[in-house]
Amino acid sequence: MKYKSTRGLAPEMNVCSAIIKGIAADRGLYVPDHFPQLSGYWDRLSQMTYKELAQEVLAPYLPEFSAEELKACIDGAYDGKYSAEEIVPVVKAGGAWFLELYHGPTAAFKDMALQLMPRLLTASIKKEQEEKTVVILVSTSGDTGTAALKGFENVPGTQIVVFFPDGAVSPVQEAQMRTADGANAHVFSILGNFDDAQTTQKQILSDTELLKEMEAKGFTFSAANSMNIGRLLPQIVYYVWGYAQLVTKGDIKAGDPVNICVPSGNFGNILSAYYAMRMGLPVKRFICASNKNKVLTDFINTGTYDVNREFYVTNSPSMDILVSSNLERLLFHLAGEDAAEIRSLMDQLASGGKYTVGEQVKKGLDEWFSAGFATEEEITDTIGKLYNDHGYLMDTHTAVGYKVWKDYAERTGDDTPALIASTASPYKFAKDVAESIGIGQGADPFDTIDRLFAATGAHVPEGLKGLKQRKIIHKESIRKEDMKARVAALLGL
Ligand SMILES: *Cc1c(COP(=O)(O)O)cnc(C)c1O
Repeated sequence: MKYKSTRGLAPEMNVCSAIIKGIAADRGLYVPDHFPQLSGYWDRLSQMTYKELAQEVLAPYLPEFSAEELKACIDGAYDGKYSAEEIVPVVKAGGAWFLELYHGPTAAFKDMALQLMPRLLTASIKKEQEEKTVVILVSTSGDTGTAALKGFENVPGTQIVVFFPDGAVSPVQEAQMRTADGANAHVFSILGNFDDAQTTQKQILSDTELLKEMEAKGFTFSAANSMNIGRLLPQIVYYVWGYAQLVTKGDIKAGDPVNICVPSGNFGNILSAYYAMRMGLPVKRFICASNKNKVLTDFINTGTYDVNREFYVTNSPSMDILVSSNLERLLFHLAGEDAAEIRSLMDQLASGGKYTVGEQVKKGLDEWFSAGFATEEEITDTIGKLYNDHGYLMDTHTAVGYKVWKDYAERTGDDTPALIASTASPYKFAKDVAESIGIGQGADPFDTIDRLFAATGAHVPEGLKGLKQRKIIHKESIRKEDMKARVAALLGL
């Protein structure tokens, strides 16, 4: 298994180098050069525990890892870290199946990958015998930052630098990041939005001057964003798991197709579902759900991607994104791996903020993807209604998925069983969830969590308990123009 760049101008690499590098030298994203096929039958796969299935799915993507090495990484990532015994419970409510991905240490789905990826990274560094300190840059709309700070907390040989948009993450997310106490943790808020942070980060990662200075001092950059293939691979597992659970419970027969609906931002989570399908998972359609920043909805419906539009800060902040990095990977696959076409589209995006895909890509989109969006009001209504009618509590992001799936099913009459990626604990966005079910918010974010628990009895994630008492360590807000200088300064360059 080799990994190649979507822009075709960087050399192929093994998985270790691809994970260490994060993005390719030509600014493209690494993708696997083929998709291994799920072997055996569902009656075998559906007997496996989550960790066994992870080993089964991931091994062919990581041929440089021995079975023991991979098992050690998987055990480290999932043992004792999850509040649900099955790691990812699949819960039926309101006509759909919720794939609850948020039972990890920071209460959002990002933990699924960010507990495993640092372990794959440090093992890769050992294998490649790089003596370097890896500097992980993370620009985050909220959840990646919290999950990466936890995943990389005091991991030897790493420094982690997180940038989040000032005032545009939930109070709970902000508290999680500002109180991160790993000795290798550095956190800044940016006076700008997520796209500002992500775009500046991409520039830093390809700044040849800076890279030379870093090299000389024994540092190398990597990205923990979903641009890193090490983030995407672990996410394939839970889609296979979700399907296997439906087979085990008798909700579907082995081989029956399902629909998969994913509340999307940077397009990493839904892309992992697409990878699962390419491995043989029986999927009929992918339903891409957006909030009011509906650039992906418009793209899937028209074939034109256009970021020249107003940016909204919404009550599903982890999806407040206009430039969805991982779409580049899907375009590459749908374009028959035509790297020249991808370079042209990405150049148009960089210069004019807009591109229109060719016929072949549009055909692929039409074949596999549907899309829709939900407004803030629809989100709160949907949370309230599902809770009142069915007693199931979901967060604002998951509500986007549920609403868009429901619209889709009604519009098309497609009654294929649907898995909905449930991406965050309701407590992580407690204020909006509390208001949605009509109990109002408390005096502060932590009081709201208590109220929500008192009203619903839903499990409060361990990581959110005691957050109020923790010391604020990272207080700074900086301009995006200063991001590079701050990184250089903290590395002593
Ligand atoms: C990151 C995130 C998303 C969006 O996932 P992508 O992989 O960026 O598309 C959705 N919901 C929550 C809660 C998230 O943290």
